[in-house]
Amino acid sequence: MTAVRRRVAPTHPSGLEVMSTSQSGAVAYRGGNTVYLNITNRCSSACEFCLRAWTDGVYGESLRLDQEPRVPEVTNAIELAFLDGPAAEVAFCGFGEPTMRLDVVLAVTEWLRLHRVASRLDTNGHGRLLNPDCDVPAALAAAGLGAVSVSLNAADPATYDAICRPVFSEAFRAVVRFAEECVEQEINTTLTAVAHPDVDLGGVAAIASAMGAGFRVRGLARPGAVRAQKGDGA
Ligand code: SF4
Repeated sequence: MTAVRRRVAPTHPSGLEVMSTSQSGAVAYRGGNTVYLNITNRCSSACEFCLRAWTDGVYGESLRLDQEPRVPEVTNAIELAFLDGPAAEVAFCGFGEPTMRLDVVLAVTEWLRLHRVASRLDTNGHGRLLNPDCDVPAALAAAGLGAVSVSLNAADPATYDAICRPVFSEAFRAVVRFAEECVEQEINTTLTAVAHPDVDLGGVAAIASAMGAGFRVRGLARPGAVRAQKGDGA
């Protein structure tokens, strides 16, 4: 697995332009058959289970960004990552909430669509709350997003607030509505929840089923885990 950082040699053997040389932290990294993107370390939640509280990264790669990458740096990182071989998809994920930088998500998604690469957004579902002037699900669909994975993590607002600790009040309903709108936009939508002892996984699965979304349980990684993977609670 190879992560693509901005701290790289000025000239890459591929001939691709290499961007900034002053940053640590992976912008693109491989996990399984996916290239993941790490475009921000900011988030509108402070989840009890967030990996950021006890590790610097996943798949053995640091995701601590000194600077947030610009669109050309992200697309450059994707191209470099694909030099290591094909991948089934590119997923916005990383150590933060991608829709904090919606403009970058939309631009890179459009770039991926033009390059015929499947795209997925892993999100806390706060996109509408973070970007109140934008119909985010419609914009994502228009850009060509193929799939979205929404971290709901609870079957009721009180549990959601206790576990995810969002900066917004009444965020639970907004996350559910965000996922519903993604389904309406015909984006392949999956609700996820961590395997947390306080989470009613059956209840989250029922919410997903009612809106026509898929459902997936994510592992709950704890400090001391041999190897943390994105999706293990972040
Ligand atoms: S787990 Fe994800 S949504 Fe929760 S605080 Fe961490 S980055 Fe944000």
